[in-house]
This record gives sequence, C-alpha cells and structure tokens, in this order.
Amino acid sequence: MKTASVIVDVAAMQTDRPFDYEIPDRWREVIQPGMRVIVPFGPRHVQGFVLDVKEETEGRKLKPIIEPMDIVPVLNEELLSLADWLTIESLCFKISALQVMLPAAMKAKYSKVIRKTGEQPIHPEMETLFNNREEIPWEEAADAGKLAHIRKEVKNGSLEVIYSVKSKGRKKTVRMVKCTLSDTELSETVEIMAKNAVKQKEALLFFSGRTNQWLTLKETGISSATAKALIEKGYLQEKQEEMYRDPHSGQDFESDTPLVLTENQKEAITPILDAINEGTSGTFLLHGVTGSGKTEIYLQSISRVIEKGQEAIVLVPEISLTPQMTERFKRRFGNDVAVLHSGLSIGEKYDEWRKISRNEVKVVVGARSAVFAPFQNIGLIIIDEEHETSYKQEENPRYHARDVAIQRSAFYNCPVILGSATPSLETYARAKKGVYTLLSLESRVNDRPLPAVDIVDMREELREGNRSMFSRSLFDKLKDRLEKGEQTVLFLNKRGYSSFIICRDCGYVAGCPNCDVSMTYHRHRHQLKCHYCGYEELAPSVCPECGSEHIRHFGTGTQKVEEELLKLLPQARIIRMDVDTTGTKGAHERLLRKFADKEADILLGTQMIAKGLDFPHITLVGVLSADTMLHLPDFRSSEKTFQLLTQVSGRAGRHTLPGEVVVQTYTPEHYSIQLAAEQNYESFYQQEMMMRKMGGYPPFYYLALITVSHEEAVEAASAANKIVTKITPSLSPAAVILGPVASPIARINNRYRWQCLIKYKREPNLTDVLKEVLEHYSKKGKSNGLMVSIDIHPYVL
Ligand code: ADP
Ligand code: ZN
Ligand code: ZN
Repeated sequence: MKTASVIVDVAAMQTDRPFDYEIPDRWREVIQPGMRVIVPFGPRHVQGFVLDVKEETEGRKLKPIIEPMDIVPVLNEELLSLADWLTIESLCFKISALQVMLPAAMKAKYSKVIRKTGEQPIHPEMETLFNNREEIPWEEAADAGKLAHIRKEVKNGSLEVIYSVKSKGRKKTVRMVKCTLSDTELSETVEIMAKNAVKQKEALLFFSGRTNQWLTLKETGISSATAKALIEKGYLQEKQEEMYRDPHSGQDFESDTPLVLTENQKEAITPILDAINEGTSGTFLLHGVTGSGKTEIYLQSISRVIEKGQEAIVLVPEISLTPQMTERFKRRFGNDVAVLHSGLSIGEKYDEWRKISRNEVKVVVGARSAVFAPFQNIGLIIIDEEHETSYKQEENPRYHARDVAIQRSAFYNCPVILGSATPSLETYARAKKGVYTLLSLESRVNDRPLPAVDIVDMREELREGNRSMFSRSLFDKLKDRLEKGEQTVLFLNKRGYSSFIICRDCGYVAGCPNCDVSMTYHRHRHQLKCHYCGYEELAPSVCPECGSEHIRHFGTGTQKVEEELLKLLPQARIIRMDVDTTGTKGAHERLLRKFADKEADILLGTQMIAKGLDFPHITLVGVLSADTMLHLPDFRSSEKTFQLLTQVSGRAGRHTLPGEVVVQTYTPEHYSIQLAAEQNYESFYQQEMMMRKMGGYPPFYYLALITVSHEEAVEAASAANKIVTKITPSLSPAAVILGPVASPIARINNRYRWQCLIKYKREPNLTDVLKEVLEHYSKKGKSNGLMVSIDIHPYVL
C-alpha cells in the first residue's frame, strides 16, 4: 500500500503533525510530495499538502485520499525543506509556512467541477491525447496548458477526467479557431453555400490565405454565433488556449542596453560576478547613496545569471517602488521578467506565479513574498532597500525576507545582494564583522552633487510669528520652483500625523469603541475609521461628551496640506499620493506618470513617495515634519528617521539640475536629523550603535516578543505571567525578560493585550520552549479564549 503524510489545512488544527492517508491505486503514480490533495478529515473534506510518500507493507487501516488538486507538485523539494526551516525559525505552524509560498489564488477554498460523460464528439486534439482511453496517465497531461484545455472539454461534457483547481484566480482562456479547409476547398465551399448565409461566407473568406492557422476568435472578428455554425458544419475547429493576464498589457517598454560601468561600479560588481560564475553562496552588502548606480549593478549581475542559464529574484520594498523599478527591468530583460506585488489582481498574481513555476521567465521583481518564487535554479537574489521594515511579515509566518533569501541561496549556492544607501544596523554590523562582504559605491554616478540640505527650526518660525505649516524658507523656494517650472516633492511623515477628531472645549478625542486608539478622520466621507479593527462611523458634529460644537478634526493630514498649499499658491498643480488617492488598482502608476509627464508642479505624499522615484525635474524636496517619528516608543525610531530623511533627500537633483532639500523640525539638534542632512551614514552608525548597546537592543541582543490577548484583561495578564514563569527556568541568567506589561495598544478589537519581551544573545532552548507555549495554548480546550503570538526578531514592539 502506498501512503502519503499530509498536513491538513484546518484553521483550528494548530499542529505540525502530519496525518497519514492511503493513496488509492488510481492515484499511485500521480501523488507526489509538494502536491495539494483533498482528504477526509472528520466529517469534512479538506485541503492538505503532501509532505512525503511511502510504500508500506503492513496493512494499516487508513482513510484514502479523495483526490489530488495538482497534476504536478506546486512545491518542490527545496521549498518543502524551506518550509521546515521556516517553521522552526519563525515559530509558526507548518501549514502557514506552506501557504505563504503560494499565491492567494491557490490558497482559496477548493471547489469541484462536476464531471459527467457526454455524447458529444471529442475535439481532435483531445482525441490524440486520449486516444479513446477512458483515463489518461497524469504525466501525459502534466503540462498544465493541456489541463486547462481538458477542463474546458469537461464543461462541454465529453470527458470524465478533471477537477478544477480553485474557484478564485482561475486560469484565463481565450477561444481560438482554425479553418480546416485548404484554400481551394474554401473557395469551392463558399460557392456552394446558401445565398443568404452572408455572414458565414464572409467569415470563411476571412481565412483565405490563412487556413490551418490558429487565430483568436477576436482577431478574426467573427461573431460567436457564426463561428458556432461553421464549427458545426465542420469548416472550423475550435480550441481554448490558456492565456496569461498581463499586468503590463498595452505598455511598451523600450529596450535598453547595459551602461558602461564607472570604475567604482566595476570594483563593486567584480566579486559579485565572480560568485555568480563560480556558484558560491555569500551575502554582499552593496552600500551606496541613492543615485550611485546600484540598480545598474543589479541589472548587469542578472544578465550574467541569465547567460549562465539561471534565474534571479529581485525584491523591492513596496508598490511605490515597483512601477519605475519594473520598467527598468522590463526594458533590460523584456518578457523574461515576471512581477509580483500587491498591486496585482489575484488572477494576475497567479499567472505571474505560474510563469515562474514553469520557467517561462528568468527574473522576478516583487515585494516581500516574491522571495518564495518557485524557480528551480536560482543564480542570484537581490534585496533592494534592504533596511525596509516591510521585508518583515507581521503575521504568521513572521519571517524576514532577508533571512529567507540567505537560506535559499545556501541551497542553490548563489550570492545574495543586499542594497541600500542606509543599511539596517544589523546588516551593517554583520558587514563590518565580515559575515557579509561590504561593497561601497562612494559617490553618485558622474559625481552629481548631493543636494544641499537646509534644516529649519520650526520653534524659531513660531517665535517669529509664522504659524503656517510651511517655513518661510520652504515657502520661498516653493514659489521660486513654480516660477521656474521645476518640480517639488513635499513629504509628510504620516505616522503621528493622521488627523483625528478632538473637542476644543473638553478635550474629548473620538476613539475606537473596540480598541485603545483614536480613530482617523476621512474627509471625503466625513467618517471616522479605526485602522486596527476597521470600525467605521460617521464623524460627530457636536461633542458626545459636552455637547460643544467646537469639535473638529485636528492634525495635518495630506489633505490639509493640500488645502493650505492651494490657499497660498493657487496656481500650483498638485498631485496628492496617500492611502486615499492610491486605493484603486494602477493609481500609483497613473499618478507617478502624470508627475513624470510634468502635468503637476508638486507631488505631495506620505512614506509611499519617499523612495525609488527618479524624475529629472525635481529640484526641491520639502520634509514638512522630520521628527514625528522620533517620538514613537520604538528603539528603531532614530534609525527610521535617519533612513527616511536620507531617502527623501536623495529624490532631489538626481539628474542635471542641482537639488535642494528643506527639512522642517522641532528637534534640529537630534543626531539622526543632523547626520541625515550630511548624508553621513558612518557617523550615524557609530552613534546609533552606542545607543543600542546601552539599551541592550539589536544588533547587540536578539529580541523575542510574546503577546497574549483575551477578552478579559485579567485573563490576559495572568496567562502572560504563567508563560513567563514557565519559560524562565529554561533561559540562561544572561537573558533579560521585560514584563509582562500591558501592550502599548492595550486593547485591539475588544481583546486586551499583554506582552513580554525577551532580550537574549544565545539561548539554545528558547525556540523549543516557546514552541511548547504556542502549542499548549493553541490546543482546543486549553486556550480558554486566549490567543498567544510570538514574534522572533520583532519590528513592532
Ligand atoms: P541607485 O540604484 O543607486 O539609486 P541607479 O542605478 O538608479 O542608482 O543610477 C542612478 C542614475 O545613474 C540612473 O539614471 C542611471 O541610469 C544612471 N547610471 C547608473 N550607472 C551609470 C553608468 N555607469 N553610466 C551612466 N549612467 C549611469
Ligand atoms: Zn467636548
Ligand atoms: Zn478599532
């Protein structure tokens, strides 16, 4: 008997234990590790992943697998072992490690297509494939292109074979027709056709000179009804061809050629090319200011990888980076590039994923989860802007793309490039220690000067009687740019800046009824929204506490800046980029294109405009409030401030026009602001490392954060205490346990939250103990309504 061990996909079953199932004889040769299957589980049929397949002699009584969902494994051996690693490293359950590797479309609930046998004739192509057999071996249909085809035939009722993979993100097909007549037959046929069959005659004549070619029905311009009639007469044949949804359809990418590298770039790329050629794993930190030519190095390294017959993964931080970045990759590598990011529809993502899985592309450019791209022969992994916190996933599995990349590179013996102008402290420290190889690009390409930075003390502005959100310096420069027809980017640090509703008389702040946070005001619908639980309500017009009418929104959101800007500079053409204006698909691209086409003078936005933009006409960058982030209770706040300011300043003067930057702040003396203005990474690193050492934070210590939540505050607190008591004996005296304390946001969605932070250097037992805690509290009955989450190397404390 052949058996399969299967991890079932059941939310309540939080365990890494696989269940064994019998493989029925008809699936013997089909079912392999890495496939998804449907299995009976209690009274239900559920989806699962096959981890392993064995031959057993002694007949155990096992339930049989109902059917496979894939004809080829969706996860190869490497990805399956990566899932093992991820399960241990991030303390997640196996099922989330497996799921994170697949596109959303494939995680959707399985749905069955009804099978039936029909009387209709089988399509000729199908006939050759099936050759009148009732079933075909799965290997023969193993090409998923055929599968889509067969599936369609099932719909016509001719075959008794296949199931659908899922209900969402289905394969898209296109109808194709072919005229089976020869040219002479064609004209003869048209002659003898009934006089009134005008449309059919016209349609047939369309094929003269191109008979026996498959054309899409759309190309032929023939109506569906006419095509049907001609097919019935046997003049035309029809088939369904699988088609990819192309997120870049209709866009032409002018191809470009590699640039001649500068001396500095050559020095940096040489060890990378050596590693690619030799096939050695190793991590390079490519440290260079914005505009120093890192991307060109990525491009030329990838060329080498493709020449070698291998594939490359390129990670970029957020959607904001993708349009322009993708364009550069598409221009260089054309159709060899797939993209994966949250701006794509589920169907588009699924199609891009399949292009990768089928090896139809050589490069993927994508956000965090693209690190799991199912290439089979990876030659290089690049993480651009490696310091970005969005590379850490904040839900299960809580992985960091950098760690996954390095793990995969070890399997494929290929290098990893981490690129940044402002590397994370962890990465730079490793490069200094020699764990990573440090490659530096000292200056901008062609020595274009870095922009001059003017730090404006906003306290001083206030003392001088300027109550505007624009300093005099920034305002004068804005006016000057408008007159000269040059472009400006205005940057608003959104965190701590979202607008909320406050009563001027009693100080009441509109808070979420479910969470301990204030709600954000959304002007266009006059609504309040909680960004933690999604609760929404209409904004009050009188204070619910004291009845005062002096209740209004407060804080400087992008909308408010836009209003004030228009008051002061009515002639300015402004593009606003924030969550409100970029909610729809493709909005990012549209807005950025508009700005690139100089249809606006000012680009105003939040974090999302801070990086990646490369427009020749930007000569001024204004940072409206540099220090909002500094005051967050986050040990990385200085680092984040430094990174953001450096990135934003890098937007100015990228091309021939020199750039200027104005940074408005209430704490002009802070080292992260001063050193960002100087673009002095090295000094910042030294200073910040001292702070981290004193505080006992990374990279000197590792962190693990345990969060417990419950509807009752006491339950959460007592469980947190129990957990601390349980783990303390397993830790060495060097480990520091902080807490338990109430979490900074003490209640989210009506659940009270308590947390405890472990600081440690080397604790060999830690992951095992923590996993035990997790397993204990995820068992039914034991949890008592408690939810425990554990984040190793957390980014949000
Ligand atoms: P980074 O990725 O470090 O920000 P880029 O690779 O985008 O830098 O380079 C900045 C600008 O300089 C781009 O416009 C790019 O086309 C140009 N550039 C890069 N390398 C060269 C080179 N070797 N010769 C000429 N121009 C270059
Ligand atoms: Zn009030
Ligand atoms: Zn809420």
